Amino acid sequence: MYSTPPAVGHVQHITENVLWCRMPLPLALDHINVYLVRDNHGWAIIDCGMATSETIAAWTSIIEQLDGPITRVIVTHMHPDHIGCAGYLTQTYRVDLYMAQTEYYAARALYAGNQGADNWQDRRYYRAAGFSPEQVTLFTQGKGGFGKVVSPLPLSFVRLVPGETLLIGQSSWQLILGLGHSPEHISLFNPEFDICIGGDQVLPKITPNIGAYSTQPQSNPLYYYLHTLEQFAQLPQSTLLLPSHKNPIRDIPNRVAEIIHHHHIHLDNLMQACLSQQTVVSLLPVMFQRQLGKHQMFFAVAECLAHLNYLLEQDKLTCVKDNYGVNQYQTKP
Ligand SMILES: [Zn+2]
Repeated sequence: MYSTPPAVGHVQHITENVLWCRMPLPLALDHINVYLVRDNHGWAIIDCGMATSETIAAWTSIIEQLDGPITRVIVTHMHPDHIGCAGYLTQTYRVDLYMAQTEYYAARALYAGNQGADNWQDRRYYRAAGFSPEQVTLFTQGKGGFGKVVSPLPLSFVRLVPGETLLIGQSSWQLILGLGHSPEHISLFNPEFDICIGGDQVLPKITPNIGAYSTQPQSNPLYYYLHTLEQFAQLPQSTLLLPSHKNPIRDIPNRVAEIIHHHHIHLDNLMQACLSQQTVVSLLPVMFQRQLGKHQMFFAVAECLAHLNYLLEQDKLTCVKDNYGVNQYQTKP
C-alpha cells in the first residue's frame, strides 16, 4: 500500500491530514522521509532533510502545492538529515521550531564546533579503540561536518516534553521519548489516526545507529535505547509507522522484536569473539561484514563500543587498558 514512495518534490497522502514527502540525502542511505500534518490554517512540517540545494528546491515545490501555509517546524531529533533545513524553513516562513530541549541545545553545540578546545579526548578515544597513531590523526582531522549540511539554527524554540501531548490542528499527538540513538528523540503517536511518526527510533529493514561517541565514551546508549523501545512494543499492531527511512509499515511490536533480536545477536557474537582478547578495531568485522569508509567507520566504532559498554555494565566482559592506551576486552569466565 505504501510501497511506492513519493518522488522528490511531490506529496503523497497518507490520510487527508497527514502527507508523506521524500528528500534526497548525499549518503549511502539516499533519502529521508518527512511528513506534514494538518494544523490550524495550514501544515506543520515534521523533520526537514539536510540543508542542500536539492532539498530546498524540493521544499519550495512542495510548499507551493499545499492548500495552506507552513505553520511550524517540528524536529524529532538533531541529526543533520532531520534538522538540516529547520533553520532555513523557520526563517523563510517565519514559524517556530518545536524540539526536545536536549536535542535543541545539542544541535546548537555541534553547530558551534570545538571553539578552540584541544581534541585530546577524541584522539584518546580512537587510540583506545585500537587505531594506530596515524589512523587516529586521520580520524580526528577535519571535523565540523555538521554545519555544512545544517542551515543556521533559529535562536529560539518551543520545547517538546516527552510524555506530554502536542495538539496539531484538531489532532493530538503523544510525544514518546527515545534514548540511545540521540539525546532526547521524540516520536509522535496519534491513537485516533492510528499513526506513529517514528523518526529514527523504529525503522523498517535497517536499525538506527546506537553509538557511544567520543563526547561520552563510557556511555551505555544501547541500554537506554532498548529500555525506551519497550514503549513501542505496546503500540497496537494496526498502527501505521511512518518512519524517517524506508517505507511505512504496520505491526510495530513485531519490528521492535526484530530490532531487539538484532542487537542480541551482536551481543552474543561479541561475547564469543572476546573469548580471546580483542579491541574495538579487531571486533569491527564481527559486527560489520563489509568494508568501512572513514564516514562509516565513525559510526561503526561508536556502535561497536555501545555494545561493549552494554556488556561491561552487565559484568560480562573485562576491559583493561594496555601500555599503548588501547582497551583490551575479554569475556568473563
Ligand atoms: Zn538519527
